[in-house]
Parts: sequence; C-alpha cells; structure tokens
Amino acid sequence: MFTKILIANRGEIACRVIKTARQMGIRTVAVYSDADRNALHVGMADEAVHIGASAARDSYLDIDKVVAAAKQTGAQAIHPGYGFLSENADFCRRCAAENIVFIGPPTPAIEAMGSKSAAKQIMEKAGVPLVPGYHGDDQNPEIIRKAANDMGYPVLLKATAGGGGKGMRQVWSAEEFDSALDAAKREAMNGFGDDTMLVEKYLTQPRHIEIQVFCDTHGNAVYLFERDCSIQRRHQKVIEEAPAPGMTETLRAEMGEAAVRAAQAINYVGAGTVEFLLDADGSFYFMEMNTRLQVEHPVTEMITGLDLVEWQLRVAAGDVLPLKQNELSINGHAIEVRIYAEDPSNEFLPQTGTIRFLETPADSDHIRIDTGVTEGDEVSVFYDPMIAKLIVWDSDRQHALRRLSGALKEYRLNGVTTNIDFLYTLCQHPDFAKADFDTGFIGKHEEQLLNPDTSELGNNIALAALYLVLKQQQVIAHRARTSSDAESPWNNAHSWRLNQAAQHHFELQIDGGIVSVSVTALSAATNCEPSNFIISAGDKEYTVCGKLHERVLQANIDGHRQRASFAEYEGHFSMYTAERAVQFNIKRPDLGDSNGDTSDNQLSAPMNGTIVSHLVAAGSTVSKGEALLIMEAMKMEHTIRAPADGTVNTFYYHAGELVSGGAELIEFEKAE
Ligand code: ADP
Repeated sequence: MFTKILIANRGEIACRVIKTARQMGIRTVAVYSDADRNALHVGMADEAVHIGASAARDSYLDIDKVVAAAKQTGAQAIHPGYGFLSENADFCRRCAAENIVFIGPPTPAIEAMGSKSAAKQIMEKAGVPLVPGYHGDDQNPEIIRKAANDMGYPVLLKATAGGGGKGMRQVWSAEEFDSALDAAKREAMNGFGDDTMLVEKYLTQPRHIEIQVFCDTHGNAVYLFERDCSIQRRHQKVIEEAPAPGMTETLRAEMGEAAVRAAQAINYVGAGTVEFLLDADGSFYFMEMNTRLQVEHPVTEMITGLDLVEWQLRVAAGDVLPLKQNELSINGHAIEVRIYAEDPSNEFLPQTGTIRFLETPADSDHIRIDTGVTEGDEVSVFYDPMIAKLIVWDSDRQHALRRLSGALKEYRLNGVTTNIDFLYTLCQHPDFAKADFDTGFIGKHEEQLLNPDTSELGNNIALAALYLVLKQQQVIAHRARTSSDAESPWNNAHSWRLNQAAQHHFELQIDGGIVSVSVTALSAATNCEPSNFIISAGDKEYTVCGKLHERVLQANIDGHRQRASFAEYEGHFSMYTAERAVQFNIKRPDLGDSNGDTSDNQLSAPMNGTIVSHLVAAGSTVSKGEALLIMEAMKMEHTIRAPADGTVNTFYYHAGELVSGGAELIEFEKAE
C-alpha cells in the first residue's frame, strides 16, 4: 500500500479522500490555488502545496504543476477526485511517465469513454443496449437530420465531447431541427472546442439509473448495485438515492451484468459508473460511462457499508477486490441531496458570496455531511457552487425521507442563496414521497416547487416582526448602557410603553413577498412581561409577546408558544422554526416617520449601510421632522429625520462611511 498520496482536487471530495487515507495510515498531500489558501482540505491534509492562481486552468487543471507537487513531496500516487483532471487521458499518461500511480482506470479506458459516440460504438459491440440513434463519424448535417427524421421526434442532440448538459438540445419537430443543431454545435464548440454531434431518441419519461462498478487488475469485476438520479434540474442531478425505488431483483441483475460487460469491454480498472436511461416500459439503454468516482458515491457506501475510496486505493495498489459479487448486499435506503449556492427561483443560477452563518445537523449513523467549506468561507466564481452533500440512511425509503426532511430543516446557512428550501419542498412533495417520478419531475412540478404553500407564513410574519422589535429594544437598551447620558429619552428602550400606544410600521420582505406590518406596544403588559404587542400583518392581527435571548426567541402568539432561532447578516435575516427556514428583511425600515408621527424616531442606522450625506451642518437648530441625514442601505436611500425640535450636536459618521445596523448616527439635543 502507498505511504503517501496527493489529492489533485479541492472541496468536499478532497476532504472525503483525505479522511479515508488517514484511516488507512496513508499520509496526504493537498494542492491549492490562491482562492483556497485557507480552505478546509488544505488544513486537513498532512502537507499542502500551492499550485497557482485561482482560475482552475492555472492551478487544479495544470498538469505540470500537479505532477511537480507530487514529485516534490514524494507522493507515490495521485487521487484525482471527480471533475478537473479525473478523466483527462493526458494527465493519466503523464502520471505513468513520471512513475506516479494514477488512482483510476488505465489511459485507454478513459480514452474509450471520452467520446459519447465512440463509447456507444464499443457498447454496441459488447451487446449493451443503446438508445436508438446515430453516433457515426460522418457529421454531414443531412445525415444527422435524416437519422432524426427516420427515428421520429422528439430527438436529443448531444455533443460527443459533452458533459454538464452543455451542447445538448431537445428537438420536438423537423422544423426546429436545423436551428437546434446550429445552437447545440455552437455551445459544444464554445464548451469543448469540438462540435461533433450525435442524435438519439428523446425518451419523454425515463429514469436515470446508474450502476456502480468496480474492477481490479486481476480480472475481477463486480457491480455495487444502482443509484436512481432522476431528480434533475437542467439535466443535472440534485437528488440521488439507492436502491432505486421499485427496482426488481431481475432488472437489477440485468442492469448490473450489462454494466459489468460495459466495463470489461474496455478492460476497466477501479471505480466506474455506467449510466442508463430506464424507460417507462422497463427497457434500459446505455447513456455513458464515467471513469471516476461519482459525486453521489456516498449513497452506495451507505447501503453497502463499504468505503469506495478505500477500494480505489486498494485496487490502485494492486490488491484483489475485497468482495465477490455474491458477498455484496443492500442494507436499507440512502438519499443524497446536493446543497448548492444557486437560486432556484432564477433558473438555478449559481450564486457567490460568503457563508456568514452555518449550522448543520450532527453526523451520525443516519446522517452524513460531505463538505469542503465552513462558516466564513467564500463560494467564489472560480469553482463549482456545490456547498455540501447531505446524505441520510435508514431502514427503508420512507424512514430515510423523514430523516432527510428533519436534516434539511436543521441545515442552516446564511450569506449565500442556496437551494436548501427548494430541496426541502422537493422532498415533501407527495409524488416524490411515492417515488412517482422521472427525469422531468422538477420541470413538471416547477410551479409548486418554486412557490411552496406558505399558509404557515401568517404566524411566521408575527414571529419575524416580534424578533425585529425585541432586537431593536435590545440595541437601544445597549446604547443606553454605554451612553454617557443614560437618562436621555432617546435611549429609552421602553418608549413602547408610554401611555399613548406607540406604533411602528415597516414593510417586511418575507419569502419573496412583501407585507405591511404594524406593531403596537400595549400600554399595560398583562399576560406576558416584559413585552406585549399587537402585530397586524395584512388582514391578520396577533397578540404576541416573547423573550429574545441571543439568537433564540421564545414567543407566545395568541396563546401558542413557539421557539425560533435567527441568523442575521447585512440586513438579511433567516428564521428557523420547527417547521422550516424563512428568509426576511425590512423593505422600508421603521424610521418612525409613518403617519407623520416622529415621536418614536430613532437616530440609529436601521440596517448596515453607507452614509450618503448630511443635510444640515453640525450645530444646527432644527425643527421636528426635518431631514438630517441620508443613508443608503440595500440599494435604497433612507432619510433620518429630527425626532423633535432641537439641536444636532454631532454627526458620528461622515459621508461615504459604512455603518452597522443599530449604530447611533447623531448626537441630538432636544429643545427645552
Ligand atoms: P451530460 O454528460 O452532459 O451530463 P448525459 O448524457 O449524462 O449528459 O445526460 C444527462 C441527462 O440528460 C440524463 O440524466 C437524462 O436526464 C437526460 N438525457 C440524456 N439522454 C437522454 C435521452 N435520450 N432521452 C431523454 N433524456 C435524456
């Protein structure tokens, strides 16, 4: 066995490989780019080598630098993870030339599967069923069009060099064919520098079922059962599970044996995945073979109890496969969801930003989190926006799903827009629960999935509003404690409880909608000290009270006791209730200027922002309601007005300065 390996990757997969290597007593070397100087995988490895600038082509894709790092540190083998150099035949060849073991298949196997059309030709010979189509070398558009017309529409055009759904186009009729071919070719040329196309029958309701295979250098090959990866957006996986719901023993054996035939047809070694489409009538067709460890390998590990990275290392070191086919079995059910920095409501566009707050469910026999980031890390434009994989396991699918719902609720992240809420809605969908799905599931239910039933929102608005009010009281109280003039009425946190009921209005942007909220402090707090309010939101009214201790709010809403925790950054709030996560922020901050009544006016920043300008000079005498200062927050300007007739003694901040939410802006002296 190796004593030291280099991991030519980053993020969760680099961490994943390091974990197993460490358990096996193998030392690890990480490589990192500028952007990853402080990344988790760098800290986890025994050694780490800086290999260049942030852009992947200058670091993780630079073969010379990766090989030099291995030589410099004396690593005997390189694990490529997935993506980057994992299916790069040149890299594989170069490792061999440098006497470094490539932890993966031999170069010819990578080359054979590198082109979707060449792969299909090999599979056809090996008797592996293919989707009907044309995958020939002659790229005359006439020939491709004729193949499509003969087959009948719909058809799917695919770039033979493709991946990640690029260069792929559905064509629904002969009229659309030419323009679709042009578009697919353009995309393929841009993406892969190769616009060779294949065309195949477009199956309208298939499931994506893939088989995990493993081969050693001694001629042994096994399949480690299937994964169902039908839940996709933009033809890319989001949820994967094992075993596939509804799979029969017969079909499993047929697909497993076909996958092993596919691997043997190219003298495969190591971990590989053979992807099939399973049609509604039970026929299955080879799609492609991925010659590496897949993102979704953990679900196979959870149901087999095996460590696939350990198997990879053993096979690469020349060992015989640890188990034979008849020694492998399935135990329970596992589901993986991919947590991405992306915006489901905006075509799943990747998002960037800093993870300001991260709280995850605890790892256990039932819950596994594979990640490469921690709180404070940045999701940058340079790499894949996957934040983590959340994997759950239980005795059967129904129980596993319940685990998943619970774990997603406990997966709390703030600072970057993610698909967490979307995943939660997805796994709650009754058709998903019944496993009534195909690869079109997300598209078909998009409307419902993107606009979850928010009937629970009513209560959540009251909770969010109560939090904001109590938070504001705390800020004022804190200021009073630290201010030299604690007796000043402007430091009075209890202005809410003057005889005349104080009212605060603001607009709450919550779960994508906007609600006008007014909070009235009741003059006599009766059933729930120290704070007691009436909150009106839309046409609903709630009597509420509560206590805020650090991040946790204990609330009583119309007699219903509830608990919620909160995370906050730059004016964005996340509320986590027992039910779900709710995002909110104040649209128009409460500056007390509603109804022309400025009696409760606060001279503090309503949220983080920038001072735009002072509207009067320091020392000016002003009258109640006069505009004193403009600040900008969340791309909107907010005017801070005089709370009463009086004098502006000092502006604490100058134009252009950043201020934090709650910061006192002006020293104001009320006229006698
Ligand atoms: P890529 O390598 O670009 O990810 P794949 O060939 O793996 O592309 O296909 C990705 C997804 O596209 C599949 O999982 C499936 O949902 C869909 N797909 C591919 N081929 C077909 C087909 N012939 N009919 C219907 N859907 C298909």
